[in-house]
Amino acid sequence: MTGKGHRLSTTAFVLGTTGSVLAAVMSYMGSTFPDSSEYMFFGKRRNRYHRRYTHWFVPWALLAYVCFKRAGWIVPNLANLIDGREAHRDVWACAGFWFAGCLLHILEDAWCGTVPFLRPWKRDVGLHVFHMSNKIGVMSRGEINFVLCSVGISLFAFMMRYFTLDSFMAFCVNLWRSI
Ligand SMILES: [Zn+2]
Repeated sequence: MTGKGHRLSTTAFVLGTTGSVLAAVMSYMGSTFPDSSEYMFFGKRRNRYHRRYTHWFVPWALLAYVCFKRAGWIVPNLANLIDGREAHRDVWACAGFWFAGCLLHILEDAWCGTVPFLRPWKRDVGLHVFHMSNKIGVMSRGEINFVLCSVGISLFAFMMRYFTLDSFMAFCVNLWRSI
């Protein structure tokens, strides 16, 4: 998947599931890290190792687990972070969401290609739900549809936090009366 696709689907998913803008921003930064870390670790030989060691879920899952455990399994909040009394928990939670972004990156890559499962040097699981464009950085039609669906569902989940069924019914009744 392209960087754009990773950033959009990961950020929207985390915003939709947690309702926290801070968590979403952290996952946005982590969402392309498995690809960019390949340049850090392998430099020019990056293509040989693409989607292998850096796309193995185990190290990212362990790092996320450690951070969330130290945070006490909270969702970070900007107000608490600025308040400062329990800020260390929010800092750990922010790091946790960075690594959660890395895990989501691997999951998204598995939709359109293959990633390692038990052996980090072998890409052996993937669904091939859509094809990638041949041009680097360009989203294929399949990827655009996938991203639109995941962003749409996530934003719907986010909206549902603020609109309950009761308030929706009251809105419909008022609309009906005003016609
Ligand atoms: Zn990738």
